[in-house]
Amino acid sequence: LASRELKTEPTVVQARQMKVGGANIGVMAGPCSVESEEQILASAQAVKAAGATALRGGAFKPRTSPYSFQGMKEEGLKLLAAARDATGLAVVTEVVASEDVDLVSKYADVLQIGARNMQNYRLLEAAGKSPRPVLLKRGPSATVDEWLLAAEYILDAGNPNVMLCERGIRTFETHTRFTLPLASVPYVQAKTHLPVVIDPSHGTGHTHLVTAMARAAVAAGADGLIVEVHPNPDKAMSDGYQSMNFHQFAEMMKQCGRIAAAM
Ligand code: PEP
Ligand code: MN
Repeated sequence: LASRELKTEPTVVQARQMKVGGANIGVMAGPCSVESEEQILASAQAVKAAGATALRGGAFKPRTSPYSFQGMKEEGLKLLAAARDATGLAVVTEVVASEDVDLVSKYADVLQIGARNMQNYRLLEAAGKSPRPVLLKRGPSATVDEWLLAAEYILDAGNPNVMLCERGIRTFETHTRFTLPLASVPYVQAKTHLPVVIDPSHGTGHTHLVTAMARAAVAAGADGLIVEVHPNPDKAMSDGYQSMNFHQFAEMMKQCGRIAAAM
C-alpha cells in the first residue's frame, strides 16, 4: 500500500495547520519530554514564533534505563493539549503501548511510534485503527524494507496517514549517538508515496550538529523535520545534550528557510 507503483502522487499528511508531503515541509519541535506546564507552554510559544507547525513532547517516555524519568503520562498529555489550545500548533506525542492508543488519540493530533517500537505489530495495528496520523520512526537496527513493512501494518489496518521518520541507525561509529542516513529521503520517496521526516536531534545526539543536518535534510528533499527544543537544555530531564535552546532553533529555522527557498 505504501508503494509508488500503486499511487504515484505523494501523500500529504495534514494535522491542524501542519502539512507534510508534496511541496510542504512540516516542522515539529519541542522538548524530548513534557516536564511542566511552564516548560511546555514556553516551548510551544517559542517554536511557533520561529515557524514550527507542530509541537512535539513525550508524555510516555520509552527510556533505556527503567530508573530514568518515564514521563508525565496522562498529565503530560493534558499539558500538551493546553499548549495546543494556546498556540494552535498540532501536537505530536509518542504512544508506547497498544492499550494507550485511544487515550493518546484523545489528546494528540499525531501519534508518534518510537524507534524501539517500530516492530511492535500490535501497536502498529492499533495505531492503524486510530483516526490520527502516525509518525513512524525507523528502528535503529531496521532495514528500510523492514521499516516500510512496519508502515504497511498501519496502512493495512485502515490509516492512510503515515509519515516515515528517519532518526538514525546503529553502526560501528560512536562519534555520533546514531548514524543519520540522509539518503533515506530520496530512496524512500522514490519507492513510496509517503512523506519522509528527518530527526536530526536523535540522528546526531549532539546539539551543535543539529542545524547542519537539518539544512542537509531540507536540501535532500525531506518533507519534514522533528527537532528537540528546550527552554534550558542543560536542565532537561531527557536528551538535553541534543536539544536546542530557543535562539538556536530560531536560527536553524532561518537557515532551513533559505535552503528551501533556493530549491
Ligand atoms: C523521542 O522522540 O524522544 C524518541 C524517544 O525518539 P526515538 O524513538 O527515535 O528514540
Ligand atoms: Mn528524545
